[in-house]
Amino acid sequence: MTDVNTLGEFGLIEHLTHNFPITQPSTLKGVGDDAAVIDNGAFCTVVSTDMLVEGIHFDLAYTPLKHLGYKSVVVNLSDICAMNAVPRQITVSIAISSKYSVEALDDLYAGIRAACDAYGVDLVGGDTTSSPRGMVISITAIGQGERTRLAYRSGARPGDLICITGDLGGAYLGLQLLEREKRIWAEHPDVQPNLEDQKYIVGRFLKPEVRLDMVDAFRQNNLVPTAMIDISDGLASELFHICKQSGTGALLEESGVPIHPEAQLMALQFKLDPITCALNGGEDYELLFTIDPKDTDKVRFLPDIYIAGEILDVADGIKLNTKGGNLHPLQAQGWKHF
Ligand code: ADP
Ligand code: MG
Repeated sequence: MTDVNTLGEFGLIEHLTHNFPITQPSTLKGVGDDAAVIDNGAFCTVVSTDMLVEGIHFDLAYTPLKHLGYKSVVVNLSDICAMNAVPRQITVSIAISSKYSVEALDDLYAGIRAACDAYGVDLVGGDTTSSPRGMVISITAIGQGERTRLAYRSGARPGDLICITGDLGGAYLGLQLLEREKRIWAEHPDVQPNLEDQKYIVGRFLKPEVRLDMVDAFRQNNLVPTAMIDISDGLASELFHICKQSGTGALLEESGVPIHPEAQLMALQFKLDPITCALNGGEDYELLFTIDPKDTDKVRFLPDIYIAGEILDVADGIKLNTKGGNLHPLQAQGWKHF
């Protein structure tokens, strides 16, 4: 028997799915992007699913159920936005053990409702079942996009500029902080955690937002990214996905990678390099995209977008130019779930 760890998450997906041919003319994109794309004539439907498992993806010791509900929706809508499409509906399936009360599930659904309101999506179905222990939440998001405006992972070309929205590493550092406070609390239950000065990074982890505003801004500025992916596993891993599927290399400028001052400070407290947190920490749910250089003026004046490098030929590899001026091959660690 082969241990699934030998393949890794992406190797396993490839192993399980490579034998499935696409037979429907309406299937424009199957496995391998942030969402599948289905041709519906006047527009395209995009579909994405994510599953969150208690003990793996969330810890209720420091995650309020309302936040969990909100975040579960956000992680799914983020994949729709990563296609440059607009989310419209979700279905929510839950498996729950008997330790959850109706009131607890009400809190979870209050968060789901808040996300539906914030991003204008309808809850249109789901499934409810029991679980031997803990909770599993599986959400499917359905969105709409114009065929000529969709952004795939595979569209980057040498010379394109690499752009990043928002800031990175904050969610990972928020998680490190919550984990540290949980350990302290386990040893000294009378000590109250003090997270006052760390509201930003804790918020980045507990209540991420979807960059639907960017999809709107792209449309208003008549811009279509040549490639796009959402940053759920860390910048390095996502840049690898774009380069692999586009058949390119890349040069990332450390000085162009946006990191919030609070994240910088917390990284130093944990004796971590802030850029490592941005490259390999996960769950920021920002967007990584590439643009044709002729579109530079369209992004230069948009708020919260940072140009952080250039797509290169595949032979040039994927490199990081550090602030000190050294070129390093970029390593992608990403999340390991198994
Ligand atoms: P993301 O991080 O954007 O959610 P994933 O890395 O989870 O994307 O998935 C990559 C691709 O593999 C997606 O197209 C997804 O739909 C597909 N995929 C993941 N797991 C499976 C599976 N068990 N069976 C079929 N397709 C899968
Ligand atoms: Mg994604």
